[in-house]
Amino acid sequence: MTKRIFRGIVLTAIIAVLLASMLTGISIYRYSEARAIEELRSSAGYILLGLSRSEDETAYFQGFSSQDRVTLVDGNGNVLYDNQADATSLENHLDRPEIQAALRDGTGESRRYSNTLAEMTFYYTARTSAGNVLRIANTRSSALGMYLHMLPLMVVITLAAVLGSLLVARVVAKRIVAPMNALNLDAPLENDVYDELSPLLLRMERQRQEIARQMRQLAERKSELSAIAENMREGLVLLDPRGMVLSMNESAAAIFGVSAKQYIGEDMLCVNRDAAVRDALLAAENGGSADDIWEQNGRYYRLLASPVLQDSETMGIVLLMLDTTEKYAAEISRKEFTANVSHELKTPLTSISGYAEIMRDGVARPEDVQKFSSRICQETSRLIALINDILELSRLDEKKGLGVRERVNLLELSRDVVGRLEPLAREKSISLTLKGENCQISGYPLLLNEMFCNLVDNAIRYTPAGGNVDVRVGVEEGKPAFCVSDTGIGIPAEHQPHVFERFYRVDKSHSKATGGTGLGLSIVKHGAEIHGAEIRLESEPGQGTRIQLVFPAD
Ligand code: ADP
Repeated sequence: MTKRIFRGIVLTAIIAVLLASMLTGISIYRYSEARAIEELRSSAGYILLGLSRSEDETAYFQGFSSQDRVTLVDGNGNVLYDNQADATSLENHLDRPEIQAALRDGTGESRRYSNTLAEMTFYYTARTSAGNVLRIANTRSSALGMYLHMLPLMVVITLAAVLGSLLVARVVAKRIVAPMNALNLDAPLENDVYDELSPLLLRMERQRQEIARQMRQLAERKSELSAIAENMREGLVLLDPRGMVLSMNESAAAIFGVSAKQYIGEDMLCVNRDAAVRDALLAAENGGSADDIWEQNGRYYRLLASPVLQDSETMGIVLLMLDTTEKYAAEISRKEFTANVSHELKTPLTSISGYAEIMRDGVARPEDVQKFSSRICQETSRLIALINDILELSRLDEKKGLGVRERVNLLELSRDVVGRLEPLAREKSISLTLKGENCQISGYPLLLNEMFCNLVDNAIRYTPAGGNVDVRVGVEEGKPAFCVSDTGIGIPAEHQPHVFERFYRVDKSHSKATGGTGLGLSIVKHGAEIHGAEIRLESEPGQGTRIQLVFPAD
């Protein structure tokens, strides 16, 4: 700005000096031109007076002297006298405009450039009383000549003006700009400088307020986003198009087992080099998206990578990791369960079909038919029991058909179960007893019945003849509890954590021989979860087993 003011002042000074000298030159020139004609006119007046008194006009000029050029021309343009040249050698002057004007009007004027453009000759003509034409001419500097003459002076004046204006411009520019440099832009309205700046300062204040508002909004949105990202259970990593980490939430850092801050600005390959992660990033870098399952530290993550596009240009990459371990495990166990079910169903069906074929083909001896038929009946009941248990489990999985939750007296329910299984115990010469006190819980009676039945049934089946099975109902540590203990074969310690899994049997042949489906304890486990009950298992091989269900206190 200082430069512009400076330049403006200097330029104005130069233009002003040039214009002033030009205008002055023009008016001086006009004045000198008028003076020249005036002088010629007055000189002509004197000569005309002299000519009018002399009889021979040519003779009048004898001994005549003048600084101006004086010429006498007759009516035909022939030069009769010229004080600066030999009249006889001069050409006819009739074509000269000033001569023609004098012949026509009595007087005439004209001007012509002399040999150079720098000089101008002024002519004044007047008709004499003898009918000749008197011409007086005066040569002076032309306008151009005058300017050329004035040039050195003009250059000096211009230089002086430029120098002067330079000094003035320096001071003025500094003075104008100084208050502007001292403006407090943080509080534009507090400045009291030039009135002309008020609209600008007002606008600046408005823009400052608008910027402050937008910055506040941005900060709020940023903290909202980071709060969301930090509280997400899913791992989230934002990368630039070259795969450099821009941000990583705590969940992602925990999944990768790194510190989030340490890797900001680093290549993602420094964080993790697994092929799945690398391939997902590569797909996103190339504008595609990736969806893959990735295993890290024994957990399964769904790995989603997609590019952030703007005008079909990749501006960054988003990497999202969802923990799907439970879902994955459920999927695997569902597949295993389906395979197990098929296998479990196949065995009894194969033997049923085998016995039926033998009887159909008539190759069985008549005394064996009875045996084969009862085997078929046995396998069929095993199938029915298996299918019932599978149906029960799938109902429990979907939490359907549970009936209505109601107050259940555990002692009464146990009495019912024990009564039902008494014949089986007697058949195996096992003493089955029930002790305890009345205690109530809120639950599903049918499901509880099934659970108790499975536990007591197992106790009888896995206890050799002559053993004891005791059922106890009471309050344990202030909570309602159901407990079955037997003096049976027990469960080895390494099998104890697995006996509640579907189709898990410690001894397959024993389980099958006693009509077990391998699903009884799974149903108990599911039922306990539904009732919020805790299962406690204590068992010693060869000594016996004690399984306790502890229900939550009401
Ligand atoms: P099953 O129909 O084979 O009895 P369960 O799910 O009821 O299936 O039990 C799983 C396994 O746990 C059984 O195969 C058996 O080996 C073991 N088990 C269950 N209860 C007892 C018990 N009271 N004594 C010894 N072993 C038991």
